[in-house]
Amino acid sequence: MAAQILDGKAIAAEVRADVARDVTAFSEQHDGRVPGLATILIGDDPASAVYVKGKQKACAEVGMQGFNVPLPADVSRAEVVALIERLNADYEVSGILCQLPVPGHLDGVELTGMIDASKDVDGLTPLSAGLLALGREGLRPCTPQGVMTLLESTGAQLEGAEAVVIGRSNLFGKPMAQLLLGANATVTVCHSRTRDLAAVCRRADVLIAAVGRARMVEADWVKPGAIVIDVGMNRLNTSPATLAGDVDFDAVSEVASAITPVPGGVGPMTIAFLLRNTLQAARMQRAGRGDH
Ligand code: NAP
Repeated sequence: MAAQILDGKAIAAEVRADVARDVTAFSEQHDGRVPGLATILIGDDPASAVYVKGKQKACAEVGMQGFNVPLPADVSRAEVVALIERLNADYEVSGILCQLPVPGHLDGVELTGMIDASKDVDGLTPLSAGLLALGREGLRPCTPQGVMTLLESTGAQLEGAEAVVIGRSNLFGKPMAQLLLGANATVTVCHSRTRDLAAVCRRADVLIAAVGRARMVEADWVKPGAIVIDVGMNRLNTSPATLAGDVDFDAVSEVASAITPVPGGVGPMTIAFLLRNTLQAARMQRAGRGDH
């Protein structure tokens, strides 16, 4: 069986086009104001700089305002806290994200937790995580939302399905499990101490890998006909450098009914949902002020 390839690039482009249309409508309703995304980039990590540049570019493409605040690697905690407080209070800023990782003398989890939950477009503050766990309205982490949209695109029935998530990070695995539970799947979360991981994976109707180990998931870990979502992004030391997922794509494609490629699967969905979250944050803030 040759699996359906889930084209994350094309689906993300649709999400971005929807957001662009909604930004135009938002601006018409609010005297020309548009949602704004503030990114905080601390230090000179080249990968982080590329990610932030991509987020700001995507923001401009859908007609949102971008504010990037670069800070030196030796910035003090007090200065970052003061910046977050200023952005929290800034009416023009709808969403704030602090690009992780931050330099070693700072605590990324602590700093992220200071972002006002109504502007938490990464969905990583304790309040956002709590609202998700309680099934209440709030901003959800971008990559798990992107995965839910990819799953919806397959038309698969999640209710009652066995879903297995490999990885339990706060950034991805845990919120992914919560979203699947919200869709009434039966969810198993695996991690580095899981016994007989392959056997657990073989139960899955929906298998999601977010580990960070190139091509770890092999064909005989996958139930025939399962949907396989590969979140992993592993840079291989090839020349030129290439990107591999956590799934052995070629072999698993012969067993699964649908699969995401790397690159071009989950990756593009993340920025698309960052844009959607920024729009949602702007709407929530307007509604909170009674300014519909
Ligand atoms: P992480 O915080 O390092 O978490 C990795 C998880 O994998 C942990 O829960 C760990 O278990 C588990 N794990 C490690 N080795 C394992 C093994 N041998 N068997 C089973 N589980 C194992 O990583 P993350 O932030 O969730 O990211 C995971 C991957 O997804 C990375 O490649 C990352 O680049 C990628 N990612 C991509 C996007 C995107 O936009 N496409 C977004 C987020 C992440 P323990 O908890 O027991 O240590």
